[in-house]
Formats: sequence, structure tokens, C-alpha cells
Amino acid sequence: MRRTFFRGANLIDGINRPKANTTVVVEGERITAVGTSSNTPKPTAQDVVYDLAGKSLMPGMVMCHYHVAYDNVMNLHDIDMKYPATYLALIAAKNAELLLRSGYTGAVGAGTMHNIDVTLKQAIDNKLILGPRFLSCGRDLVTTGDSVDCHPDFWKLNMDGLARICDGPDDFRKAVREEIKRGVEMIKLYPTGGHGLMWPADVMTMSQAEIDAAVEAAHERGKKIRGHIISKKGILAGLKANIDVIDHGDMMDAECIEGMVKQGTFVTPSLYFPWKMVEQKRKTGKAGFSGIDEMEKGLEHSYQIIPKAQQAGVKFVIGDDFGIGVMPHGEYACELEAYVKGPGISPLEVITWATKNGYELLGQDGGIIQAGKLADLLVVNGNPAKDITILQDRNNLDVVMKGGEFVTCQLTPN
Ligand SMILES: [Zn+2]
Repeated sequence: MRRTFFRGANLIDGINRPKANTTVVVEGERITAVGTSSNTPKPTAQDVVYDLAGKSLMPGMVMCHYHVAYDNVMNLHDIDMKYPATYLALIAAKNAELLLRSGYTGAVGAGTMHNIDVTLKQAIDNKLILGPRFLSCGRDLVTTGDSVDCHPDFWKLNMDGLARICDGPDDFRKAVREEIKRGVEMIKLYPTGGHGLMWPADVMTMSQAEIDAAVEAAHERGKKIRGHIISKKGILAGLKANIDVIDHGDMMDAECIEGMVKQGTFVTPSLYFPWKMVEQKRKTGKAGFSGIDEMEKGLEHSYQIIPKAQQAGVKFVIGDDFGIGVMPHGEYACELEAYVKGPGISPLEVITWATKNGYELLGQDGGIIQAGKLADLLVVNGNPAKDITILQDRNNLDVVMKGGEFVTCQLTPN
């Protein structure tokens, strides 16, 4: 079989410090060797060789909080009332390819209508369309009057949109089983308000019994479950139920961190949205929306607590609400800069969140450049471990490779 050789790269492997002048060999869908030119196989005439002087080779990234079918919406009604399901599926297909070409070889859904994640994943896996490896999410499971249960009763819609309204543990259990029947692999809950939603952060929008029932129903069928959780009370409730992913987790403290580390809970801080809004306000003096002062306070707390949580060993992953109007699809890698400039996480650590940790949540054998791992990798013009912002320009991605196949290749072989 013809092999692909990448030689002379600055290797960012997802775990260790960057290593200069490294050779990586790809055969089929996997990496078969990583080392120096002397301790890796020699290419034969039929192999393809790329010299990567001045370039970095790193694992593909995973967007771990993704709404593939949000079409840069301006309000909550836009999400499921503006277009029919068929049109939304086409939007989702376009975004999936854009995400992959932006360097994200994996994605974990965080809420979609019309079962689009499941269908999209099928189309990607069948090579009908281009897109990342997907862990599919379904509808938002919310209690009456919470979050995306936002259409007034007098509209008498009775529609199947983004929200599946559940009340009581039995109803949550049933809803989780319905989602799993539809092929969903990641369940989405809304245990608290806050982080842009209509109820403030300190309102528990699900009871402990409801959270417990939903998590138990997901886990008994081997599926994962995540929750929009902001307050400390909510985080502790999620941990008590053994939820897999805490989305946002703004008000975490030492007690929360201890539980997260002990249970191996993934955390998606999704700081890009508040960071972008607050930076805009600081630059222009103008508030983008009314809740900006509260958001700024929350952001300052995040800046203090995230480095401590990172130090303690919390498994952070990246991902945010791309597809809402103020942060359109395509801006994906701008999120990485927020963790460097805000809480002061090093670019290399942020890359580990995006790669190794992301693949662990995705449940796929990638995210690390090592022999035997999936050849999901990027060749970057420059060194993102020094300057994370170079990942924001898709022109700097000389190669996007998924499963050993080139999605993008701007290089000429030797
Ligand atoms: Zn979201």
C-alpha cells in the first residue's frame, strides 16, 4: 500500500512539548510510525513524501459543543421556525464541511432539531458528504417553560422542534429512551438557567430526581449525557448524577473541581461567546446586549478558576455556540485564542483540550500523534504552540487529513 511520509515537521503530538524535525508515516487510515528520519522506515519509490520545514504537524481538533444546524440565528425562534427540516439539513451539511476544513476532524453535538446530527453522521460515514467524525446529539430535553420552550402557548404549534418538553423523572426517562431509539449518542439537558438563557443562573430548571433519572436512562443504554449547567448548585447536582459533560460550568469552585477530577467529568467552558462580547464592550464602550455586566462578572470568575481547574486535572474540551448570529460558523478557531488571552492557558494546553481530550469524549482512537492512532491530522504553516491565532486562517492549514485521506492539501510532494 502507498504510504504518506511527512518529514522535518515540528511535531505537536497532543501530549508532549513540541519536537523538531520529526517524521510521521501514514498508511491506510492510521499512523504507522513517528520518529526521526533514522528510526522510521525509508520511503520507497511508490510512497509520497512531503517536506514540512517551517511547518507543524498536529492532531485534528474536536469541536465538543456543536450546533451544526444553527444558521447564524438572531433569536431562539429562528432555530426551528425559520426553515423547514429539509433546508436545515442542507445548512448542516455545508457547516459540517466547513468545520472539517477548519481543522476539526471531530464534532460532538450539543442539541439539534429534526434528528439532523444522526442523519448527518450517517451521510458523512457513507461518504455522501464531507464532514468530521460525529457524536450525534438530539433535541434539547427541557422542563416546561425553560430554555428553548420559548414558543408562546397561544401559537398552538404542537410542533416537533428543538425542545422535547419533559416534566418529572419518568418523562425524562422516556424522552432519553426516545432519543436513543432515534440514534442519538449524546443526550442534552438543561439543569440550570444562565449563560444567555431566560432564567438566571441560580434557578434550577430541573430537579435532582429528573437529572438522576435522565443520566441513569442514558447510561443504562451506554450513551453519554451533557448538561447546560452554570451555578455551583447545578454543577454539584450534575456531579451527583454522574453526568458526562458539564457545559459552561461558569461558577465552579474548589469543591466542584474536586468532584470533576474524581469522576473524570468533561467541561466545556465555551468562553468565546462571553469573551467576544466583553472584549467588544471594552474596545468600543458599547454593550452588545443588556446582560453584559453580569456576563463580565462571570467571565472574571472564569479567568480565576479555570487555571486552578486545569492545574487540578479537570478534563477541559473546546466548543461553543457557533451558529448564533454574533458568532457565525467559520469563526471556530477564534475560540482557542479566548482561553489564551483570558484565563492565560498556554497554547499547547489549549491544543491538548482540542485534540487529546476531544477525542476521548468523542470515543475515537485519535487526538494523539502516535503509531497505531487514526491519521486525523493537520499540517499548519507556522507554530500554533507559539501563536494559537494562526489556526484562525484556513489558508494556514496546508493539510487536513481524516482517516488517512486528504480533505485539504496545499503541499507539493517531493
Ligand atoms: Zn449550546
